[in-house]
Amino acid sequence: MKGYAMLGIGKTGWIEKERPACGPLDAIVRPIAISPCTSDVHTVWEGAIGERTDMILGHEAVGEVVEVGALVNDFKVGDRVIVPAITPDWSKVESQAGYSMHSGGMLAGWKFSNFKDGVFGEYFHVNEADGNLALLPDGIDPADAVMLSDMVPTGFHGVELADVQFGDSVVVIGIGPVGLMSVAAAALRGASNLYAVGSRPNCIQIAKEYGATDIINYREGDIVEQIMEKTHGKGVDRVVIAGGDNDTFIQAVQMLKPGGRIGNVNYLGGGDYVRIPRVEWGCGMGHKTVAGGLMPGGRLRMEKLVTLLQTGRLDTGKLLTHKLYGFDKAEEALMLMKDKPKDLIKPVVIL
Ligand code: NDP
Ligand code: ZN
Repeated sequence: MKGYAMLGIGKTGWIEKERPACGPLDAIVRPIAISPCTSDVHTVWEGAIGERTDMILGHEAVGEVVEVGALVNDFKVGDRVIVPAITPDWSKVESQAGYSMHSGGMLAGWKFSNFKDGVFGEYFHVNEADGNLALLPDGIDPADAVMLSDMVPTGFHGVELADVQFGDSVVVIGIGPVGLMSVAAAALRGASNLYAVGSRPNCIQIAKEYGATDIINYREGDIVEQIMEKTHGKGVDRVVIAGGDNDTFIQAVQMLKPGGRIGNVNYLGGGDYVRIPRVEWGCGMGHKTVAGGLMPGGRLRMEKLVTLLQTGRLDTGKLLTHKLYGFDKAEEALMLMKDKPKDLIKPVVIL
């Protein structure tokens, strides 16, 4: 079979590989909609997870089941399924402890385009199909649904980690597709003043549509100063980080009220340390909590999140600025994600 792969750090290309084998609990899926992730860009061009050779990229897909293992109960050949980016091993102790994304070790629930071939192949392998697939409901566009693989669960997890409550003032730093889903989630959770930090005009427009009350442009001045001015020096209750770099933590701590929480879902691909400002952290006594996490995956999460699309509470279609048709467009889609033209939020390839 054909796949679009990382050949080595900084290099990508089409390769031929054996179709993956299906274990007794597993499924083999043929993609019908796929999307590249900023994490694929970090993986290839920044070497963020180290060297990988001839590894098929991609971890966001909706597909059709073409084979199931003998012990799979709930899925059959021909089912159309949503595939989460994170596919845990559900019998591991980390999963039993509630951290299935770390099943088998730190971040080890992230398998596609990390420890095994991803979804930019003519076929791909899903471990523990009963625990990791969800049926695509009739009437849901596969292109909209592919945002449930990663963008929705990740953006929403930032808001879960920050523990946004009714009436909280919230800053979302970064309004690419992940941050935009954090804006939508914070609004659903009842945020009051919802400050979105970004600069691209179309992202700003969509952030407002998802519920941002104020836009902070980080290119037009220090974001801490801008937030402090808007909050009369008080700061905010919650900060979600979905963009920026290691130094963004410093700013997040600075703009947070005592007792506040930071939820980070940004992928920190470089440097050895993340620094926290001592004084603004209350010299260690400010009750400012920093939480960071990989998105929770698995079947239940997908089944729940897709109901937000079914009930019209969430419209992921707003993210899809570039729709490409045909499997061979996987390369073009990834390059769009790498080059980030100004009008891009998220590309999707429909097969
Ligand atoms: P994008 O690159 O599309 O968006 C990044 C956002 O951050 C943009 O709005 C950008 O602004 C803004 N930004 C950039 N630099 C700064 C800065 N210095 N200060 C403030 N804002 C800044 O990324 P995605 O939305 O696709 O992904 C966001 C992050 O989430 C990535 O690091 C990705 O790897 C990670 N991720 C994490 C996952 C998880 O499970 N935890 C899963 C999937 C992704 P501008 O408008 O100028 O572009
Ligand atoms: Zn991703």
